Amino acid sequence: MKKRFSLLAVALTALLLCISCNSKPKIQVADDESIVYFCKDITPENILKLYEALGVKQEGKIGLKVHFGEEGNQNFLNPELLRPLVEKVHPTFVETNVLYVSKRRFTDSHIALAKEHGFTFAPIDILDAEDELVYPAEGLKHFDKIKTGSHFANYDAYIIYSHFKGHGSAGFGGAIKNIAMGLASPGGKMAQHAEAFPSCRNANSCVGCNRCVQQCPAGAITITDEGPVIDTSKCIGCAKCIAECPLKIFTPGKGADEEVFLERLVEYAKVLSEKKPMVYINVMDNISKSCDCSGKAPAPFMEKVGAVASTDIVAIEMACHQLTALKQKTEDAFKDVNGISGLGQVEYAYKLGMGNKKFVLVDVVTGERISLEDAVK
Ligand code: SF4
Ligand code: SF4
Repeated sequence: MKKRFSLLAVALTALLLCISCNSKPKIQVADDESIVYFCKDITPENILKLYEALGVKQEGKIGLKVHFGEEGNQNFLNPELLRPLVEKVHPTFVETNVLYVSKRRFTDSHIALAKEHGFTFAPIDILDAEDELVYPAEGLKHFDKIKTGSHFANYDAYIIYSHFKGHGSAGFGGAIKNIAMGLASPGGKMAQHAEAFPSCRNANSCVGCNRCVQQCPAGAITITDEGPVIDTSKCIGCAKCIAECPLKIFTPGKGADEEVFLERLVEYAKVLSEKKPMVYINVMDNISKSCDCSGKAPAPFMEKVGAVASTDIVAIEMACHQLTALKQKTEDAFKDVNGISGLGQVEYAYKLGMGNKKFVLVDVVTGERISLEDAVK
């Protein structure tokens, strides 16, 4: 009787302690599962809640990888969603210059466009503004080196904040693509998209200004009577000539096939995510079939789904793939509109040991598990 009374007392004390500290029972997951936090309402407060739920203490200089949106793009995420997170963490917005000729190809005009688009409440750093940083890579199928911007090394940790939406060549673009293309230098972008050296289009329109020759760090370009000729044995694939030519004669070379392109993305994401600690937030809103690099992207084809966060890049991408499919009542929402399944990214990332495909979805507002079906209701 006495023993039963003391067990009851212990249980009551535990209950009272639990109530007084307002703690929730810890979500248990299996070894091959990861937690993905979810919120249905995409608000600035909930974006901060998602980050805090991860329980990761990021210290030092934090890079917040965003996408500023191409000029004319109407679907990129409203920067105001990030304001509470920025006020809490004091990160720097980080991006890299793009491969094609646009305002986002050059650092000054890229930063000016970012500010026009509302990214005014944190410093902005274009990681390849000064130089390229090359990391050696081992044991990968496609790369023995990975090219990012030299400022990448200046940060202690990264928050990878991604607009989960369609992409013409990758099926969808989420965290993997935001690291792979989003943190690559233009030369790194070209290496993923295409052959490692540019092609010349309408070469005979060359006016012989010599700007490409002067900018080429490898001495790989000769101007002939027929226009520029690239010595591919010298070319290092930096893509500087693409930006330099006023007539846009240089273009990325022949594109990689679909499967190879997806694998290349994953290999870039793997190497860079192993260099610095990263956490991931994906926002499923304004979901068009095309990405935010489109100057005029098609209108969104799917309703708002919600936002998710995880420390596991494979789990978060799988969660977004499944949530968007359920929302559209289909197997693969992006294969339906782009003819390519982004799931290839997830499968290859899993194969490379980057995370778990299985996940437990937790509502960040209630702290309770939530089913995929309830999440998309
Ligand atoms: S990609 Fe770079 S190295 Fe190759 S030709 Fe162009 S400027 Fe020269
Ligand atoms: S920059 Fe363009 S136009 Fe000028 S020399 Fe090179 S290829 Fe010709």
